[in-house]
Amino acid sequence: MSENNTNINWYPGHMAKTRSQIEQDLKLIDVVIELLDARIPKSSRNPEINKLIKNKKKIILLNKADMADDETNKKWVEHLSKEAPTILTDSKTGRNIDKVSKKIDAVMAEEIARQAARGRINKTIRVMIVGIPNVGKSSFINKISKKNSLEVGNKPGVTKAKQWIRIGKNQELMDTPGVLWPKFESNEVALNLAFTGTIKDDNLERVEIAYELLKVLMKDYRANLMERYSISGEEMKNIEANANPAYELMKLIGQKRGAIVSGGVTDDEKVSRLIIDDFRNCKIGKISLERP
Ligand code: GDP
Repeated sequence: MSENNTNINWYPGHMAKTRSQIEQDLKLIDVVIELLDARIPKSSRNPEINKLIKNKKKIILLNKADMADDETNKKWVEHLSKEAPTILTDSKTGRNIDKVSKKIDAVMAEEIARQAARGRINKTIRVMIVGIPNVGKSSFINKISKKNSLEVGNKPGVTKAKQWIRIGKNQELMDTPGVLWPKFESNEVALNLAFTGTIKDDNLERVEIAYELLKVLMKDYRANLMERYSISGEEMKNIEANANPAYELMKLIGQKRGAIVSGGVTDDEKVSRLIIDDFRNCKIGKISLERP
């Protein structure tokens, strides 16, 4: 788990600093790779990204695609491809990472042809990763650098601190990603970021997070819940007939998993942690929390 996830305080001054740093870095860049979390492509998007990168070429990676459901993944690719070429990636195993280089060439093809016509050949394409904390930027950079040769090293005259990693013929990736602030625009977005661990659990009450997560899962992934927690059809129906089904479900899971305090009462804190961990470790299945 990266250090920076969730520990950043995105106060306005910090956002302004980040914005100007990225604007500065972008001057060196031909192609921006926007990393989104495939489970929450809307909520994991920085609200200003397109304004920041203006008319730069862009590729979208729906990362952690291994954790989201395949059918919804396909729909997102179809939807987002209208905006920019979109690839489903898994930066933990490296799945589809090898497709990125080709896409970079594809989005730059026209520009390269134009330059070649003016006699400029073999121009290096410079690429940068941007995304909110915890989407997998460092993992992606690690994977793509291992698949390719080592760091290119400092480029005197280009910039002092930037390191570049060769990721393809005539392609170099800035080794530090642009860390963008997440959206804070609605309760729904905040919850999605909490479910996936982008916002630290104690920022919101953990029991509240697990409770809200159960509500979503009961609606869209009922069968997954039943399977994971060995809940019978009858048990589920009884729960659903209740005034507060999500809390009834939490209590039942607590009972089944032994998350109880003396007297057989459910330990809400313990069962909540268990449910959140199960979700984040894909024990409940591949789950997409947003649809296009
Ligand atoms: P960053 O903050 O954007 O740099 O994110 P990290 O690269 O540190 O990744 C955050 C967490 O997500 C780590 O625990 C990674 O192992 C995990 N992770 C990153 N990419 C993937 C992915 O594609 N699939 C899965 N399952 N986990 C991932």
